[in-house]
Amino acid sequence: MRIDLHTHSSVSDGTENPAELLTTARNAGLDVVALTDHDTTAGWALAEAARPAGLTVVPGMELSCRWFPDDQPPISVHLLAYLFDPTHPSFAAERGRLRDERLQRGERIVTALAADGYPVVWEEIVERSEGGVVGRPHLARALVEAGVVESVDEAFATLLHHRSPYYVAKVDTDVREGIALVRAAGGVPVFAHGLATKRGRVVGDDAIAAMAQAGLLGLEVDHPDHAPHERAHLRGVAAEMGLIVTGSSDYHGTNKQTPIGACTTDPAQFEALLDAGIGSAPFRD
Ligand code: AMP
Ligand code: FE
Ligand code: FE
Ligand code: ZN
Repeated sequence: MRIDLHTHSSVSDGTENPAELLTTARNAGLDVVALTDHDTTAGWALAEAARPAGLTVVPGMELSCRWFPDDQPPISVHLLAYLFDPTHPSFAAERGRLRDERLQRGERIVTALAADGYPVVWEEIVERSEGGVVGRPHLARALVEAGVVESVDEAFATLLHHRSPYYVAKVDTDVREGIALVRAAGGVPVFAHGLATKRGRVVGDDAIAAMAQAGLLGLEVDHPDHAPHERAHLRGVAAEMGLIVTGSSDYHGTNKQTPIGACTTDPAQFEALLDAGIGSAPFRD
């Protein structure tokens, strides 16, 4: 069994639509794939309709959150959520707020870039974000197409990284609130790429303990952005706190170099996740 529990389609910041993504998953020999677009469930129905026979699809999402340390500015954290009820009202409202927040902050970044002469037009970027969930990868694509940079990676390295003068932070959900919402909707919250230092500051074990206290059920341990010592540390934390361990590619189509299935989840851990998710059911034969 090959299980990849973290992928993005063009409904958020991946480059393949949900049907194409499932074909990619099948062709890569996966048995189970989770669709985890940022802050939206818009891809679920498309994935259910397009699911190839033999492939199990886990409906999921990646919620944009923040951890508030006592002595430092907030730290961006991503919360994977699986098998929740997409109609749960307060959770649906919070996703809507985050999508709106993405639009406002995306426009602010683009306005600042345009003011310095970069040839980017906000309306064109929104138009090309199929699902309307705009993220920095959309801005990166626009910069590539305008000939400003050669690649999405170069756009992040030069203009879009979190220390850039053009960077604007989103007002993301307090992660403890996010965990509570996922649980209230019957879902399984899993802390995504928790020690990915290349993305910015990361939280300490104290934060993970607080998240577990708030109802966190799993840690994404095997992730392309985690070095071996980071995986080992998280595996230890998961064992200590009794959390599910997942592994996944965080596939984004051609917006990232990582192939689908680059990291995978152990079947016994997947079973534990299935048992815990009661808000919706996987799409399967
Ligand atoms: P946002 O949610 O708009 O802040 O953008 C974050 C997204 O940008 C992540 O989900 C990744 O898809 C992507 N990303 C972040 N850092 C990089 C990077 N260095 N290179 C390519 N993509 C990145
Ligand atoms: Fe992304
Ligand atoms: Fe993420
Ligand atoms: Zn992701």
